[in-house]
Amino acid sequence: MKNIFSIPKKDLEEYFVGINDKKFRATQIYEFLYKKRIYNVDDMSNIGKNIKERLIKDFDFSFIKIKLKQEDTDVKKYLFELSDGNLIETVLMYHDYGTSICVSSQVGCNMGCAFCQSGRLKKLRNLEPFEIVQQILLIEEDAKVRISHIVVMGIGEPFDNYDNVMNFIRIINDPKGIDIGARHITVSTCGIVPKIKEFARDFNQVNLAISFHAPNDTIRNKIMPINKAYKISELMDSIKEYINITNRRVTFEYIMLDNINDSIECAKELSSLLKGLNCYVNLIPYNETKNIQFKRSKKMQILAFYDILKKNGINVTIRKEFGSKVDAACGQLRANQS
Ligand code: SAH
Repeated sequence: MKNIFSIPKKDLEEYFVGINDKKFRATQIYEFLYKKRIYNVDDMSNIGKNIKERLIKDFDFSFIKIKLKQEDTDVKKYLFELSDGNLIETVLMYHDYGTSICVSSQVGCNMGCAFCQSGRLKKLRNLEPFEIVQQILLIEEDAKVRISHIVVMGIGEPFDNYDNVMNFIRIINDPKGIDIGARHITVSTCGIVPKIKEFARDFNQVNLAISFHAPNDTIRNKIMPINKAYKISELMDSIKEYINITNRRVTFEYIMLDNINDSIECAKELSSLLKGLNCYVNLIPYNETKNIQFKRSKKMQILAFYDILKKNGINVTIRKEFGSKVDAACGQLRANQS
């Protein structure tokens, strides 16, 4: 039985037409769930008894659960327990422009990036749309906030769970639903080329971020196994195609790893790769994690790297750090449970 929070409005409309009710019923249900936050069918006024019974019979209304929470001044981190006992994590961040959350898209991850804690646990399964949607609903209720921005950058590779993540976006983007604007949603991928092209056609207003992390195949092969399937030239071609179709600026995330990808030479190589592209680079000081040997680049090195990109006319920022006190780096909260 499908969970009600997994159903895009269009599909719910089809469902109601299919049971000889009105299409408009879907909007009503959406408003109860996402605007009024009424989750109990019995409490939904002006829905007839027959329809209520039908809904309860046809859909699962259950929720994932908050298992643990850690708080800092500008960040709250949540560990959720799914109905099968699996754990996922989500981070809420307070910015000057609003609040964002970083949602997980899978239990574990198969991408195997050498520097990343999430990939230490192989993918156990994909998350269903409702399990991503409910991360938002439960955090809004718990932290008493309206979340303005969503990044799909938690545990998992969203393009390895494409259909569910896309339905998640349809549900939260719906004006009758949580109504988060497409331009306030960002999907981050390690570079699954065919899906980047598909995404450009499916969602040309949603932001795309690429976990790039290296300016050439030699380095990228060492730290990101996905690069063996799609090398940098193919990845760049797909990004250019994305930009041509969407006319949107792409974010390049670049983790600064001491002595791995942070040399002056790397900065120059990255500059020539990105020159003239509608993009911006986000330099991320590496969050050191247990059992992983990589170190964060020295501050001077990050600044020198930044300067070279700037001089070459590349838009670049150094990421503000959140939550170093709360195990905020990917996968750390869950990893530290065991
Ligand atoms: N699989 C997707 C989304 C999840 S990873 C992707 O690869 O984009 C989210 C981002 O965090 C990626 O850019 C990833 O490379 C980065 N990351 C992973 N471990 C990190 C760490 N210890 N410190 C800083 N960034 C990290």
